Amino acid sequence: MPDWPLKVKSKSFSHYIQGVKEQGIYPYFRPISRSWGTEVEVAGRRLIMIGSNDYLGLSQEPRIMEAAQEAMRRWGTGPGGSRFLSGNLTLHEELEAALAAFVDKKKAIVHVTGFSVNLGAIACLLTSQDTILCDRENHASIFEGCRASRARMIPFHHNDPRDAARKLTAAREKHPQGARFLITEGVFSMSGDLSPLPQLVELKRRHPELLIYLDDAHGLGVTGRGGRGTANQFGLTRKIDFIMGTFSKALASIGGFIAGDDEEVLEYLRHHSKTLIFSAGLPASCAATVLACLKVIQEEPERLAHLWENTRKAHAGYREIGLACGDAQSPILPIYIGSTEKAASFAADLFHHGIFALPAVFPAVPQGQAVIRTAYMSTHQDRQIDRVLEVLARLAPQHRVRAADLAEEEALRGTEKLAVSNPDPPDPPVGLTRPGS
Ligand code: PMP
Repeated sequence: MPDWPLKVKSKSFSHYIQGVKEQGIYPYFRPISRSWGTEVEVAGRRLIMIGSNDYLGLSQEPRIMEAAQEAMRRWGTGPGGSRFLSGNLTLHEELEAALAAFVDKKKAIVHVTGFSVNLGAIACLLTSQDTILCDRENHASIFEGCRASRARMIPFHHNDPRDAARKLTAAREKHPQGARFLITEGVFSMSGDLSPLPQLVELKRRHPELLIYLDDAHGLGVTGRGGRGTANQFGLTRKIDFIMGTFSKALASIGGFIAGDDEEVLEYLRHHSKTLIFSAGLPASCAATVLACLKVIQEEPERLAHLWENTRKAHAGYREIGLACGDAQSPILPIYIGSTEKAASFAADLFHHGIFALPAVFPAVPQGQAVIRTAYMSTHQDRQIDRVLEVLARLAPQHRVRAADLAEEEALRGTEKLAVSNPDPPDPPVGLTRPGS
């Protein structure tokens, strides 16, 4: 085979990966041979899972499995085609109505994954004449959708409405024509930060033409009244033009949807979103799973309450250990580490001690701001969280990943830098910078 550019690149990549594997710190693509939700089996060992997005633990709920099996018996295992042609099920339409009602929008359109919603819908809603303001920490699928739309894409600093306002005003002056969109996540997938939706919505006062698209993949089922999502949490559902959600997190399946109040636009999207038209429809078992999840979420609010109890317990434990963590705005509790190597070796040691948690490194997080992304579930038991905290308390000082260790190292680096540039340096800077701040 000739050495075309990608071949050269992949050769050096596999050399790099081989090196990481030899050090025993390669964390990805771990084959899980069995799952109990909060625990999983890998290579014959049972580990406590603190990296899953199955926030409400619904993927192990017998009534939901039963609903999926029942649908499979009625419609078979696969849809047999695109929804546009031969794969549109009554169940899809029932699900769309249930989702629209759940997020309090007039209409919802289901796609086969969340990624394909962002890719297909954003590409379809915008053209090269339009402008998109995009939070820098938005998910890759949003950036792919923006790219495919060919619209002017202007990233703004993470969760910084003032930067968004400045960029929006400049964009309007420079390009008075065309639509203007702002895209943000409700709960950011890596940092767990909540979006400052009230301040972002406030931009509509000076820019009434602004349309807001909210990716609430991690908010759905978790934030808002009864898990109705982040727009609901802030009482801003009417002001958000499009709400996108996925089924791959709290809704215990795969698939995704976009919802809104403009039924004509959504009907256009149904006929033009390429990822909907040119992909097969969602299998019946997945659609039935999501319908059953929506029912359980509404009937059993205690699940959500327990998720927050578990999150608060874990977060208090992290604080006590002295880990650098955020302020628990969601069940996603990243442990800030900084260096990729340190994050990988800490995660490997956690794995060795029976904890399944993964490092998130660049490009999933900004360069040099690696984290161990931990996330809690409603179904975690106290004894499991206690065990996780016990292991973290033991390993964190050994790996020097407590906030004080990181601040000390940063101060040292600061002193070294200043010593080179300034013969008489002031006090070294201390403190951690959070990803995106
Ligand atoms: N948006 C966000 C914010 C996500 O975190 C993800 C999945 N990680 C997606 C979209 C894509 O969702 P799916 O897994 O359904 O493709």
